This record gives sequence, C-alpha cells and structure tokens, in this order.
Amino acid sequence: MKAASFAYERPDSLSAALGLLADAHGAARIMAGGQSLGPMLNLRLVQPQLIIDIAGLAELRTVDREGDDLIIGACLTHADLEDGRIPDVSNGVLRRVAGGIAYRAVRNRGTIGGSLGHADPAADWVTTLAALGAGVRLASAAGRRDLAVSEFIHGALQTALRPGELVTAIRLPCLPPTTRFGYAKACRKPGEFAHAMAAVLIEPDKARSRIVIGAIDTTPIVVDDSSLFGGAITNLTKQFDRDLADHLLMQAGVADPAARHIHVSVLARAIAEAAA
Ligand SMILES: Cc1cc2nc3c(=O)[nH]c(=O)nc-3n(C[C@H](O)[C@H](O)[C@H](O)COP(=O)(O)OP(=O)(O)OC[C@H]3O[C@@H](n4cnc5c(N)ncnc54)[C@H](O)[C@@H]3O)c2cc1C
Repeated sequence: MKAASFAYERPDSLSAALGLLADAHGAARIMAGGQSLGPMLNLRLVQPQLIIDIAGLAELRTVDREGDDLIIGACLTHADLEDGRIPDVSNGVLRRVAGGIAYRAVRNRGTIGGSLGHADPAADWVTTLAALGAGVRLASAAGRRDLAVSEFIHGALQTALRPGELVTAIRLPCLPPTTRFGYAKACRKPGEFAHAMAAVLIEPDKARSRIVIGAIDTTPIVVDDSSLFGGAITNLTKQFDRDLADHLLMQAGVADPAARHIHVSVLARAIAEAAA
C-alpha cells in the first residue's frame, strides 16, 4: 500500500520546526528516521496532512554534559550509539543495546528520540532508558520541560507529548563504574522486535536496584524497591522472587501463563548477568 498524500517540510532549525508544528494544530507528524513512521504511513494507520522532517537538524544531534548527566540529542541514531560516537557514561550499556536493535539498515536511520516518541512497548530504548533512570527533554513553541522516561511513556504508542511538542534530547545520568547492568530479550528471529525484555540496574554504592520488565502491552513494569530480591541486593540470583515477578505480570494484564513464564525467564537471565 502507498501513503495518502501529504505536504512535506524540512525545516533548517528547531525553532522553525516548532513553529510549523504549532501552526499545524495537530495535523502534522514529526519524522526522524522514518523507520516506524514510514510503515505506518504506507499502511495508512496515520494520515497526517503535513510531515515535518527533523532528521537534518544539527541542534538535535548534539551531545552535552549538564552536571552529572549526558544530554543526548534526539536525532542521534542507534548506529551513532552503537559505534560509540558519544561519550560512554553508561559502562557500555548504550553501545550494547543499540547494537541489538533490528538490523544495521534500521539502526543507520532510526533515532533514539524517534524510538521514545513512537513508544512501542517492545522498543529497546523504552525499557533500557527507564532502567537507567533517564529523562526526556521536550520542547514546544511555548517552552521546554523535562520528564522521567517512566513518566513519559503512558502506554503502547502513547506518550506524554502534548500537541506541538517534540522530544529534543535524552538526559542520561552518568553511571559510576561499580554499577552492574543486565539485559535480556527474547525474539522469534534475530533482528525482530522482542516479545519479552528485561533490564536490571544494580547500584551497590547506593544499595539500590531498578528492574524493568518491557515488551508487555502497557507501560513497562518498574520495580525500584528491591522487593524482587527480598529487599536487599545481595545474592541476586538466589533471592530472585519468581512468584512476585509472575504476580506483577499478571497485575499488568499478562494473562497467558506461558507468556508470563517467558517474561520471568528472560528477567532471570538479565538478573544472572547483573549478578555475574
Ligand atoms: C524491521 C524493523 C525492525 C525493528 N526492530 C526494532 C527492535 O528490535 N527494537 C527497537 O527498539 N526498535 C526496532 N525498530 C524500530 C526502530 O528502532 C525505529 O528506529 C524507531 O522505532 C523509530 O525511530 P525513528 O527515528 O525511525 O522514528 P520515526 O519513524 O521517524 O517516527 C516514529 C514516531 O515517533 C515520532 N517521533 C519521531 N521523532 C520524534 C521526536 N524527536 N519527538 C517526538 N516524536 C517523534 C513520529 O512522529 C512517529 O510518530 C524496528 C524497525 C523496523 C523497520
């Protein structure tokens, strides 16, 4: 199928893009890498009157430090992260996760901001960035605001974006070298979207853990009180409470026991990696 006809603008500055977005009163769509929007247009799942292409905006491809955080421009591609074109403040997590997204052709064009803006529950950045405690920076013609990734994702393909707003950057806290991270996902074939995904962050210095279970039909499950380990972060694999994980999945609406079993097994793999 082919996309319905639409007007196309390629603004040369962020302020011009925000102006176009404001003037369109909800009839425009942002396009970054086009890796998710392209298929949606072709299937006519979305039929915007105007596409605003932000891929060429240098302002959205910058990487800056702000205190202890790294501010990663929304239009940095998965390949930019995979190839290490930004400072490694995550002990290699960003490179590794980026390299596991789809195929190189998708990674060359798909962007970190587009991935969050699209908010597919199975997207690697949705789960990973929530686990890393990252934030999202949003801008509109009216101003700018920051949200935690976990506040930004409202559900499958649903975000906190207001009309006229776009994602300009990701705010990533720099991780101390003592931090441990585990990540696992189950895909039917290499390069395909995952049907189960989990990320585990352990911060021994702060005696703190954060676990995210992704690739479910709603917002990712975030557990940051160590309850899945009985309240402590020692002996992670032995203490892992599979029944509690199963219960959380059930509460989140994963009704099929086989699907829950896969999610719990994937989480166990991520925990084993963080514990190693
Ligand atoms: C074959 C295939 C396999 C894939 N497999 C995976 C996978 O395994 N894991 C994974 O994580 N992803 C996967 N993807 C998705 C891919 O990672 C995309 O890069 C990503 O979902 C969207 O990024 P994009 O820059 O292409 O956004 P686009 O397609 O341009 O836009 C997607 C949506 O986000 C909005 N948007 C884009 N940028 C912004 C912004 N800055 N602010 C606000 N809204 C914005 C658009 O309006 C649109 O609604 C796959 C895609 C394909 C085609």
